[in-house]
Amino acid sequence: MLINLKKFLLSDDLVMNVNEALTITDKELLEKNKLNKDIQFSGKFFKVEKSLLLSAEFTYSYSETCARCLEEFENKIIAKFNAIIVDEVNEDYEAEDIEIMIKDGCIDLEEPIKQIVYLSMPMKALCKNDCKGICPMCGINLNTGKCECNDFVIDPRLEKLKTLLRD
Ligand SMILES: [Zn+2]
Ligand SMILES: [Zn+2]
Repeated sequence: MLINLKKFLLSDDLVMNVNEALTITDKELLEKNKLNKDIQFSGKFFKVEKSLLLSAEFTYSYSETCARCLEEFENKIIAKFNAIIVDEVNEDYEAEDIEIMIKDGCIDLEEPIKQIVYLSMPMKALCKNDCKGICPMCGINLNTGKCECNDFVIDPRLEKLKTLLRD
């Protein structure tokens, strides 16, 4: 995931936009999170005084199990981050922005992107906001099917009554 900044650094331009399809190559990260390796990156590099800053967002997707209906679906996340491009890591650096090392005029986005994926992945997700979930009685997926369980809510008191009546 190398981005070459040489030309930009030598030019008088103050801003450079980068829109690129990138690929995550870390097999472990991909498999563990059922991550799609293709991500769409869109970033803006700024020269601010002597610093070089990056404001970026990227879209990634992964296979998720809906917390309500338990179906697998493709979840798409748009993650944003800001970074400062540095030639050496500053141990005392405490701002929220990520530091990205520049080497021979190039930066590698693999590590920061992996970090952001890890941080931005939600604990729980729904296949859609109005997912109807599954019926707690028969387990049918109520998005795709119907059941009659709701008409027969079994109240333990009613159950008792039924047995009494039967006797
Ligand atoms: Zn669902
Ligand atoms: Zn049911």
